[in-house]
Amino acid sequence: MRSTMPDHPLTITSIMRHGTGLFGDHEVVTYTGDGYRRLPYRALAGEAARLAGALRSLGVDGDQRVATFGWNNAEHLTAYLAVPAMGAVLHTLNIRLFPEQIAYIAGHAEDDVVIVDASLVPLLAPILPEMKTVRHVIVAGAADPAPLLSAGKDVHDYRTLLDQAPDDFDWPELDERTAAAMCYTSGTTGNPKGVVYSHRSAYLHSMSVCTANAMGLSSRDRVLPIVPMFHANAWGLPYAALMAGASLIMPDRFLQAEHLARVIAEERPTVSGAVPTIWGDLLRHARQHGSDLSSLRLVPCGGSAVPEALMRSLEEEFGVHVVQAWGMTETSPLATVAHGDSWELRATQGRLLAGVEGRIVGAGDTVLEPDGVSVGELEVRGPWVTSSYHLEEDPSRFHDGWLRTGDVGRLDAGGYVTLTDRAKDVIKSGGEWISSVELENALMGHPAVVEAAVIGVPDERWGERPLACVVLDGDALGGTALDGATGVAELREFLSGKVARWQLPERWAFVQAVPKTSVGKFAKRTLREMHSRGELTITEG
Ligand code: ADP
Repeated sequence: MRSTMPDHPLTITSIMRHGTGLFGDHEVVTYTGDGYRRLPYRALAGEAARLAGALRSLGVDGDQRVATFGWNNAEHLTAYLAVPAMGAVLHTLNIRLFPEQIAYIAGHAEDDVVIVDASLVPLLAPILPEMKTVRHVIVAGAADPAPLLSAGKDVHDYRTLLDQAPDDFDWPELDERTAAAMCYTSGTTGNPKGVVYSHRSAYLHSMSVCTANAMGLSSRDRVLPIVPMFHANAWGLPYAALMAGASLIMPDRFLQAEHLARVIAEERPTVSGAVPTIWGDLLRHARQHGSDLSSLRLVPCGGSAVPEALMRSLEEEFGVHVVQAWGMTETSPLATVAHGDSWELRATQGRLLAGVEGRIVGAGDTVLEPDGVSVGELEVRGPWVTSSYHLEEDPSRFHDGWLRTGDVGRLDAGGYVTLTDRAKDVIKSGGEWISSVELENALMGHPAVVEAAVIGVPDERWGERPLACVVLDGDALGGTALDGATGVAELREFLSGKVARWQLPERWAFVQAVPKTSVGKFAKRTLREMHSRGELTITEG
């Protein structure tokens, strides 16, 4: 029997109409470093129409790629709405990648227009000549465009262009399956790969973000996305906020703890998403300055494993409820969220959201039982999980219609995922696997440890053994120098009982900072390279 329901298209256009139409007095607030710019959603609708009109006047009349090179702010949000709704494809360039990678990605995506934030003109200028497909550059904010002019592109001022455009735009009827936006993975191995989201996948992902098993967004919320809009769509928060009618507070380029603490105290967000490093910085800042974080009802955190100690401290000292989430660029990104009554559940990567299916696959591609014990690679599939890469065959990443995540861990019968490592970071010692993430989490529970990254290093007897690279907090030590044999003894003692004896690292490096990737994760490959070049001072113990 046929249903009586239409295949009414699920589009970003309808998210935009709903959010800006019904919640016109809610707003996007952009922090300027010393104050705020406020744009009510009613006015945001007009801005989106003018941006679409402006792009149309530059010749964007189909599925051309319109790239952004910017921070989380009102202009970026305007592009998030206008570009997909006009039928073009939004391409958020990751400003933190190496210049060659940015040029490669822009060429691979065939970017036609780039909207650049004024503060990033100096960063874009040297790359622009290599962005061969780009015809137009639109500069948002006050900047000297001179460095851009020699690249042979048409350079425009955002405000002038929008002021010349009509106030209305005739938004087209779109097929929900067409491309709306694209993002490249940060390419920890090989070239970055393009993931292309459809209107449908963005819509369904936003609905999922709004469910209570995820973030439960509503029109009473004020959402502060600290996670960049150029990385995995700021976890889908911008679209979900508009769908829910929640206001957005944008930190722009001010991502240091003192700025974020101020924005939280003054603008009183209820929900805010950021990676663990940022929450770690905020926690230390808040302890020192007694910051007011009381407006936050929910803090989704992920991107890398969230130390339980961090979640506990934020909750016990500041009443901030942190919820771990897992996902990747390929999964739009939200796939699991760790709500639960016990710390045991909350320390997992989370429970699969409705729509996302997961399984654990072991040696020889055997699907293992979701028994909470069997360890293997996590595979997922669902309406917002990619099933291929843009213009690239990579069968090694897909398995019978499932995405191989490259993450290793366990799945239980309740759908909770526990990750023990990324496949390439697992430490293989004497035929057994040691989880670098477990060691790191345990170490970061020590009050004097700011950061800990554990890598596998060659060992004659065992094949590989863990090397713990630790950043110490001088102030927490009360004058005792821990960066030597005393520290090693102390940390080994601290770990005993938390991890099996044979997993205890016997190699230690006390470092000033753990190197980070472009998206703020521990750059373990860099650490491994530093180790093989003999650049890490090792203390044995
Ligand atoms: P990449 O870092 O490869 O560019 P993404 O930024 O999309 O890709 O990050 C996805 C990866 O981040 C996941 O595959 C996983 O390894 C890691 N990750 C994300 N959330 C978590 C989490 N809560 N715990 C552990 N790892 C996580």
